[in-house]
Amino acid sequence: MANDPDIVPTTKPTCAARDAATGRPCHGVPSIPCPKCLLVAYCGHECRERHWAKHKDFCSVYIVPKPQKTDSDMDDEPINISPWSCSAATDVLNLEKNEGRHFDDYLSLLFTGEAGLRHLIYSVDKLPETASPTLCVCINETTHFNLTRTFLALHLLFSHDHDPVLNAEAVIHMWYSARMPKALHNYVNSVARKHVIHTLDDISCYYGGDKLAESQSCRSHTSQENLSMDVELRRAEWMAIKKRLEESKVGFAESVAIRYLDTTRNTEPPQRLFARMTRARSTGLRKWHDDGLLLPYGHPRDGFDTLNSLFFMARSTYPIGATAEPLSEWPMEVLDYDYAAPNDVYGKMFFYLRDLLVRFQRRVAKIPVKLQLTCEPGGNLPEWLPSLRFRREFDRIEVGPFWDQHPFLTLVLFSRLLRHEDENPFATMLALTRDTVTHGMRCMQGDLESEKLDMCRPTDTVLDEYAPPVDSEDDPMKGNVVRRRIGLVLWRNWDKFASRFLSSPAHFGFESLMDPETTVEHRSIIQTGFLGLAVREKQIITRRWPNRLVHSKKDKPSLRDFNRWLSWPAMLPERWLEWKLCGESPEDEWRKWMKIAVSKPRLAVELALQDIVSGQKSDDETEDGFERDMGAVSLKDGGAPDYDPEATIDATVSVLERDLKGDEDDLIKDERKEDEPNKVEPKGVEMVQKGTGKKKSKKSKNKKK
Ligand SMILES: [Zn+2]
Ligand SMILES: [Zn+2]
Repeated sequence: MANDPDIVPTTKPTCAARDAATGRPCHGVPSIPCPKCLLVAYCGHECRERHWAKHKDFCSVYIVPKPQKTDSDMDDEPINISPWSCSAATDVLNLEKNEGRHFDDYLSLLFTGEAGLRHLIYSVDKLPETASPTLCVCINETTHFNLTRTFLALHLLFSHDHDPVLNAEAVIHMWYSARMPKALHNYVNSVARKHVIHTLDDISCYYGGDKLAESQSCRSHTSQENLSMDVELRRAEWMAIKKRLEESKVGFAESVAIRYLDTTRNTEPPQRLFARMTRARSTGLRKWHDDGLLLPYGHPRDGFDTLNSLFFMARSTYPIGATAEPLSEWPMEVLDYDYAAPNDVYGKMFFYLRDLLVRFQRRVAKIPVKLQLTCEPGGNLPEWLPSLRFRREFDRIEVGPFWDQHPFLTLVLFSRLLRHEDENPFATMLALTRDTVTHGMRCMQGDLESEKLDMCRPTDTVLDEYAPPVDSEDDPMKGNVVRRRIGLVLWRNWDKFASRFLSSPAHFGFESLMDPETTVEHRSIIQTGFLGLAVREKQIITRRWPNRLVHSKKDKPSLRDFNRWLSWPAMLPERWLEWKLCGESPEDEWRKWMKIAVSKPRLAVELALQDIVSGQKSDDETEDGFERDMGAVSLKDGGAPDYDPEATIDATVSVLERDLKGDEDDLIKDERKEDEPNKVEPKGVEMVQKGTGKKKSKKSKNKKK
């Protein structure tokens, strides 16, 4: 029966040893972990003793990677180019505390970032048993890889006629593992394939194949009992999914080489990586680097013989950084999963996820869900007009990575989509930001200098015990130096850093962009609100700091928690901002802001603000530096999006003209304003225009002033 290619055995916690005579995995129920590493577990002492000869090489050997010369600063975000997101799945509803445990009405949710499906799964799992909402969920993906993954996962998780455990394992391996059993691979493809083929066939029949522009969008609709799913994609995106469902064209040996190269080139330098980890943790990571299977450490790999075509579609399509650890996609509570081998982080993640996905399927089968899946690449943000696409209001919007990419544009784009608090007092736009503690503003230089000195002197905190002061001559990549530096960031005053940053008009004084000359006092929109939106003082859905371990100098986290935090892939401070819509913003005002927002990449906004704010009589607060920020922006965003502001405005305006139902007269008035010499033109715009060769017209207009 085990040889039947159509039957996929489900994964069980299993004894790590093999039968002495046959070499087959023992498959006993594991009860005793290896006492040295706690990374594998056995069904009994006999198996443990027999397996020792094999296991000892991995159990007790701690290979310290060779030092590499590098200038990387511990404060800098490790360059995170990876398909794995740093944002952990979060309950975006917190229904029990907000709409209430007996809530049974409609809830509209919009997810626009890389975490959409994970947030949905996690939020549904946290729904109180007594609640029976109808969920209207829009998920937008930004890359073809993520789109395919979400598309497949949705079809698997809503395929109610199959075993939920099988579906859950299929989702886990499809999402994370480099290889899977052939039968499982076939199963994943069979669930989704027919929808793709049918849609592409329909498109061909309807439009006659290639006559249809690649950019034309086509919708596929499926419905069953409680679910209706609309997938609205361009033809090119349907084709991209189809390609990823075909059999991999990569050989097995080649796949190993691809992963090896990715590990050495695109992930965090090993020396620094292993410095953050305990021995067992780094042994587990090595195995992940080697085989890329999200499985318990001691679980046999037999039968995982088919390459996952999501990763290995072709030689060149392996997603950069996919050999990095995917753990940070889920909350750190993964580590609390009760498992026979307590140090097996990957085993814990596998079973934690499988349980979660099974619970999700059971719950979601009982509540009505309307799903809409779309794909707008992040780089298209300025051209993307979600307010036109969705035409309704949402009770929750999670803007994903857009906030850090371009906070100004994000606010303008999504402000029209949030439900007003008069209608739902809990309606919230959620933005997760990673800049608030590591911004390096000039006003914080004193604190940063003193932190540097703290590397070598006691700080009178428990950190001195867990990562004692180091010698100033030490190699910055040495384990104890790495631990001390990361530890000091943990003991930094996150609230102070964040409040200086968020209240800085030089970063968030967007209101001043409209009319810098007449603005009396430049203020951050985080304090003043913007377009009817205001930041919630007291957060009602998320924890302000979802990954904070140390809240004051006197805090004494346990060494175990400190080590966990240190070895977690996403360890930079994160902060949630919750926005509510409590004011009004007239249509014409919004459209003016829209024009300004789409005309400037984030960097241009920052330069313009710097110019405006420093024009005002300078005091300590307004002098905050931009030098470092500019570097950070170009690093993180892969450079500001390369688009022509003028063309974008034109395109946007023309779409607005076409789609907004506003009457013709208004539009004509607007266009006239555009031609007036006194047109609203924030200072600093010239600096951006230089690069695009469009300086002349702007300059002359300004001179007329
Ligand atoms: Zn055994
Ligand atoms: Zn061991």
